[in-house]
Amino acid sequence: MILDLKALFAGDSPIQVDYSFRPEEDQLPNVSLVHVTGRLVNEADIVMSQLSASFEMPLSCDRCMSEYVAQYNFPVEHVLVTSLNHEDEDRFILVEQGQLDVDELVVSDILLSLPMKHLCRPDCKGLCPTCGRNLNEGPCGCKKPIDPRLEALGKLLE
Ligand SMILES: [Zn+2]
Ligand SMILES: [Zn+2]
Repeated sequence: MILDLKALFAGDSPIQVDYSFRPEEDQLPNVSLVHVTGRLVNEADIVMSQLSASFEMPLSCDRCMSEYVAQYNFPVEHVLVTSLNHEDEDRFILVEQGQLDVDELVVSDILLSLPMKHLCRPDCKGLCPTCGRNLNEGPCGCKKPIDPRLEALGKLLE
């Protein structure tokens, strides 16, 4: 969605945002529609995006390989400017001709926010390295490798 922010930069009232879009496959493959809500405001001549983007993404767990659907909700919060100095480039978003491509801004924030590691749950037990069983479904009965220090202690107690 392209928003015209010229009136907002001139000091007009906030713009409410509530819409969904489908990201390009080559940018964010396999995700659901991305739902964007929030508003764009001008407070004391500083124009800001106060948005959040929520969506679902099917993934496979890095530890146990099972498929799951991750639900994400990322903030899209920036100061928007109509001109940039070189030192501002990382901090501010440049809105050229007063036109903001909201989809593009949201997709680039999502790409920065996505975790590198995907886990089906924070305490995923993963797969047994010996038999390959998914240990989230219960123990597998393989002998656990014994810590040599514990083994020494066991011998002392015998
Ligand atoms: Zn897992
Ligand atoms: Zn096992």
